[in-house]
Amino acid sequence: MKILVLNCGSSSIKYQFIDTESGAALAKGVVERIGMSSAVLSHTRYDGDGIKIAGEILDHQIAIEYVLGVMLSKNHGVIDDKSDIEAVGHRVVHGGETFTDSVLITDEVIKVLQDNIELAPLHNPPNIKGIQAVKRILPNTPQVAVFDTAFHTKMPTKAFLYGIPYELYKKYKIRRYGFHGTSHSYVAHKAAEKLGKSLDSIRIITAHLGNGCSMAAIKNGISVDTTMGFTPLEGLLMGTRSGDLDPSLILYIMGKEGLSLNEAGTLLNKHSGLIGISGESSDMREIQNAVKEGNKRAKYAFDIFCYRIKKYIGSYAAAMGGLDVVVFTGGIGENSSEVREEVCGDLGFLGIELDETRNMNKEEIISKDGSKVPVLRIPTNEELVIAIDTSRIVEEINVKTK
Ligand code: ADP
Repeated sequence: MKILVLNCGSSSIKYQFIDTESGAALAKGVVERIGMSSAVLSHTRYDGDGIKIAGEILDHQIAIEYVLGVMLSKNHGVIDDKSDIEAVGHRVVHGGETFTDSVLITDEVIKVLQDNIELAPLHNPPNIKGIQAVKRILPNTPQVAVFDTAFHTKMPTKAFLYGIPYELYKKYKIRRYGFHGTSHSYVAHKAAEKLGKSLDSIRIITAHLGNGCSMAAIKNGISVDTTMGFTPLEGLLMGTRSGDLDPSLILYIMGKEGLSLNEAGTLLNKHSGLIGISGESSDMREIQNAVKEGNKRAKYAFDIFCYRIKKYIGSYAAAMGGLDVVVFTGGIGENSSEVREEVCGDLGFLGIELDETRNMNKEEIISKDGSKVPVLRIPTNEELVIAIDTSRIVEEINVKTK
C-alpha cells in the first residue's frame, strides 16, 4: 500500500510517502516556518532528485496542498493522481488512556483527540490541524492515527501511577504515559529479528536518544516501564529538557525567581538539559566538540547525560529480573560512539561488554562476541512503523466492510 505519513508540528510538517510492500520511501520532505512569509518546502524523491520551494505558507492546509502539488508535479513528482495516496498515517503524540493501538480516524476519534489536548497542549493541536486539513483536501482517503503513547499502554499499574493522591489520577488522568512508542517498538522488533529470538521471550532495554530522549524496559514484547512520564519532560537528560528532578525544587525556583507557571515550564523544557548545564548547545555533537576543547561545563553535561542512561539500565534490568539485549537508537544513540562507550563502561557485572572497534565502526552489533548481553545499534524508522500500521488498520477495515 502507498501511504503518506505526516508528522505535523506547530510550525512544521515532516512527510514521507512510503510503499509498505518494499518499505521504501518514494519521497520525503519537510515544510518549515508554517505561518510565516519565509516558509520553505524541501522535497526529495527516491532517486535523489530534490527541490526547495520558498513562499508564504500560512497554515497546515496550505502546507499540505504544497506537498501534494510537488508530489504530483511533472518534474519532481511520484504520483499521477491524488488517489495514488491510498491512506494517510499521522503521528499523533498523545492518545491518553483511550487509544491502546492505532485507529482509523473518524469524527469521534477527532473529538477524543480534542478532549486530550490538555494532556499534550503543544503537540496534539497541530496533529489535529493536519488531520482536519487532509480531511478537506482528500475527503475520500482513509486516515489513521498512530500514537506515541500506545506502545506503553500495557505498563503495569505500579509503573504508571505516581505517588500522589489517587484521586488526582482519576480526576485529571495524571499518570505515566511514555512517548517515542513507535521507535521503541520498532527497534525492539528489529533487535529480536537480528538475534534470531522471539520478542515474546526476551528482556530488552531500548534507549532512544535524540533531541528528546527516553528509554523503555520491554519484557516479552511489552513495554513494562519507560522514562518519560505524564509529559516528555521526565527521565533522561535531553537537549533542552531537565529530565528527572526533585519536584520541590520547581516550587523553590518559582519562589526565588518569581516565575509564573508558564515561565517555569519554559525553564524546564527549553533552557535545561544539555544547553542549561553547558551554556553552549543542546546539540550533542557540539557538546562533544566542546568537551574535546576542555570545556568543563560541557563535560558535566556529557557526563550527566550518560550517567542517567547507565542508572536506568541498572534499574530496568532489576525491574525485568534480568536483561537480554540493549539497543541504542536516535540521532545520538545511532551516531555517538562516545556516549555508547561511556554508558556501557563498567557494566560487565550485568553481562554488557562493548567492543571498542565495532562501536567506533558503527556496526549493528557493537558488543563483544562473548558479551552475555548483546548491545545493538539500530537506526530507528518511525515513519515506516506509521506506514505499516496505517496499512494494517485500513486493510482490517476493508476486510470488515466487505
Ligand atoms: P530528533 O529527536 O529531533 O528526531 P535526532 O534523533 O535527529 O533528533 O537527534 C538529534 C541529536 O543527535 C542531536 O543532539 C545531534 O547532535 C545528535 N547527533 C547526530 N549525529 C551525531 C554524531 N555523529 N555524534 C554525536 N551526536 C550526534
